[in-house]
Amino acid sequence: MTSSSQEKPPLLDVKGLSVDYGLKGVPSRAIDSVSFALRAGEAVGLVGESGSGKTTTAMAIAGLLSPNARVSKGEVRYRGEQLPIDDDASMRPHRWSETSVVFQGAMNALNPVHRIIKQIAEPCMLKLGMSRGEATARARELLELVGIPADRGSAYPHELSGGMRQRVMIAMALACRPSIIIGDEPTTALDVITQAQILKLLGELRSRLGLALILITHDLSVVAECCDRVMIMYAGRIVEDGTVAEIFAQPKHPYTRLLIESIPNPASGKKMIRPIPGDPPNLVNRPSGCAFHPRCPSVMAVCATEVPSLDQFGRGRVACHLYRSSQEDKVAVHA
Ligand code: SF4
Repeated sequence: MTSSSQEKPPLLDVKGLSVDYGLKGVPSRAIDSVSFALRAGEAVGLVGESGSGKTTTAMAIAGLLSPNARVSKGEVRYRGEQLPIDDDASMRPHRWSETSVVFQGAMNALNPVHRIIKQIAEPCMLKLGMSRGEATARARELLELVGIPADRGSAYPHELSGGMRQRVMIAMALACRPSIIIGDEPTTALDVITQAQILKLLGELRSRLGLALILITHDLSVVAECCDRVMIMYAGRIVEDGTVAEIFAQPKHPYTRLLIESIPNPASGKKMIRPIPGDPPNLVNRPSGCAFHPRCPSVMAVCATEVPSLDQFGRGRVACHLYRSSQEDKVAVHA
């Protein structure tokens, strides 16, 4: 790598980001001190159980937090420039043109009373200043790009299959030529064959258009298929971050290990899902110290009192007292 490319800021730089929700007047921290960088063209999976903070992280980056959410700390930079993620009006010019989102459940996200060609053309007119004719031509191109014949553009959402509707969502997300696509569980509502087709499409578009991808999922096998890197979230924090190859071969955090062990693998005779014992934490009343300690098979006394910091360990990062950052404790002590 040359020195000039080293100096270039990452495409996306998230630093110490914390977001609180006001739930019946009680603030609840949904994400806490989340930091990571995303390079152009990189695909990162954000993985965790419901309530782990993965969707809040992504919605904060896209400037799409709900009205009861507040950015309490931290910042997000796009190509070195700080984004006004907590100011809806100031965020408008950035939204969809730099980062766009493919939501889960396309039937809810698409407008049922408009033809799909109109729904894809609209952002081209609003954001790119195209005339109706130009925007319609672009929408036809985008439909072909995602594998739908352009003539199907006259259909209404209910006239398409679930997989085709999700392809329409991807076409809409690409309309304003963003550099980053966030897929929020984009294949959750689909059967396994259609899920594989949509993931393949996302992978092809990523390499063809040089897109960076943030894929939110609770399914590690989806990440294994289409990401370079994976970040595991628990109770609003990143607890492990590394390349897909490293995390699958040598998971460090006990939660990551349990997540991987919970994936059925018929080839190895493991046909059943093995659930992780215990319940996800209550964010209004989160456990002290390491939030995973009530469920952790490697728990130690220190875990109930001290929050482990997310430290560099090898080429990845891990937040666990088994991996101390101080020199004397550098060697992991887990069984
Ligand atoms: Fe388990 Fe302690 Fe590590 Fe938390 S810090 S994951 S409780 S060993």
